[in-house]
Formats: sequence, C-alpha cells, structure tokens
Amino acid sequence: MRDDLQLLIISSPSGAGKTTLTRRLLSAFPDFIFSVSHTTRAPRKGETDGSDYHFVAREEFVRLRDEGAFLEWAEVHGNLYGTSLAELDRARSLGKRGILFDIDYQGARQIKAKLPSVTAVFILPPSLRELERRLRSRGSDDDETIARRLAKAKAEIEHYGFFDYVVVNDDLDRATADLHGIVRAERCRRTQRALEAEALLRE
Ligand code: ADP
Ligand code: 5GP
Repeated sequence: MRDDLQLLIISSPSGAGKTTLTRRLLSAFPDFIFSVSHTTRAPRKGETDGSDYHFVAREEFVRLRDEGAFLEWAEVHGNLYGTSLAELDRARSLGKRGILFDIDYQGARQIKAKLPSVTAVFILPPSLRELERRLRSRGSDDDETIARRLAKAKAEIEHYGFFDYVVVNDDLDRATADLHGIVRAERCRRTQRALEAEALLRE
C-alpha cells in the first residue's frame, strides 16, 4: 500500500495567528486531520480533552514517552507536549489524505529528521507591535503571560531558517491564500504524483 499521507507542520510564536489559519485550512481541506497532541498543561477555557489536546498528568506523559509512544516531544513554556505515533494511524484509518501538526520548532526538527517528506511552515506576525496587539485583543491571557509570550517570540522567530515556507500573517485572507497555495503546490510534487504518472504509462 502506498503511504502518501501529506504531513504538514505549522509553527509560529504565540499570537501570530496560527490557530486562526489552522481552522481555515481544516475547513478548506476536510481531507486533513488535526493531530491532537498530548500535553501536561491545564486546559484553557473552551478547550476540550481529546479534540484540542489529550490533557495528561506529567507522570502519564513520562510513561508514554518512555514507552516510545511519541513521534516527537518537547518542553514548551514549562510544560511537556508530544505528538503520539497513534495520530498517524488515526489519519490513515480514517482514510485522510493529510495530517496537520501544530507544534513548535523543536518538534518540527524531530519530525523532519524522522519523516523528511514533511512540509514545515512558519507563520510570522507583520511586526512585534502587532503581535502584542493581537495577544491583548485575544483576551485569553493576563499581562504577565502576554509579557512572557512576547519575550519568547523573538527566540522562536530565530528558528525560521529551518522551515520550508514562511507565511507573513498581515492580511488574514492573503495569508490564508498563501497557506492553501502551499498545500496545493505540495500535492503537485512529482513524488506525490508518481502513481498517477505510472498508471498512465501502463495504459
Ligand atoms: P496563535 O494561535 O498563533 O496564538 P490566534 O490565531 O489565536 O494566534 O490569533 C491571535 C489573535 O489575533 C486572535 O484574536 C485572532 O483573531 C487575531 N488575528 C489572527 N490573524 C489576524 C490577522 N491577519 N489580522 C488581525 N488579527 C488577526
Ligand atoms: P499552547 O499551550 O499555547 O496550546 O501551545 C504552546 C506551544 O506548544 C505552541 O507553540 C504549540 O505549537 C506547541 N505545541 C503544541 N503541541 C505540541 C506538540 O505535540 N509538540 C511540540 N513540540 N510542540 C507542541
């Protein structure tokens, strides 16, 4: 069986618009699933266990990690986060064509090392000033959390050079079109079309 699951990583500093762009991508491409990560952080208001994250205690996370359950894992903002290998099986068993990972640059590096066909996209805010405005307008974090996220933003942006594509989320519709264009272009890669080409040659 051909395993042509399209693997897409989206990373960004907090507040750049990754959640907004990811939601739009999943509704435009229903043949993608969102990879549900495990995390030791507490659920935020409105988050659902099993669909936003699998929320687990630190001991449970460490047990799973030591059993080899994760494709990648990392510590982010003091909490542990990981992508379980079971998510790839879930995508395949649902007959999906792609899987989208919302993970940080540390996880992106680990997945790229194991699965080089992955496409890694980094979302940039148009400026740090606008990033701060968006973090405040979201209204989900207190001043201290916002200050911490802003301080971390530059450290995350420093890793942009590792990614295959960089999308600047200034105008939301344009950034959405860029991201969708990347997904479509990746689907037209020769390696993704080999079966179709070979079938024609056999006709
Ligand atoms: P992230 O998931 O990267 O932390 P969000 O998607 O939650 O970011 O976006 C942060 C805030 O910025 C949200 O209030 C969202 O509505 C807003 N936002 C996202 N993209 C844009 C954009 N292009 N222009 C203006 N506001 C945006
Ligand atoms: P949040 O707690 O705001 O949902 O996410 C914080 C950061 O952790 C984000 O940068 C997000 O992309 C990253 N993250 C979420 N899940 C994973 C994961 O499974 N692995 C890694 N490496 N990072 C993750």
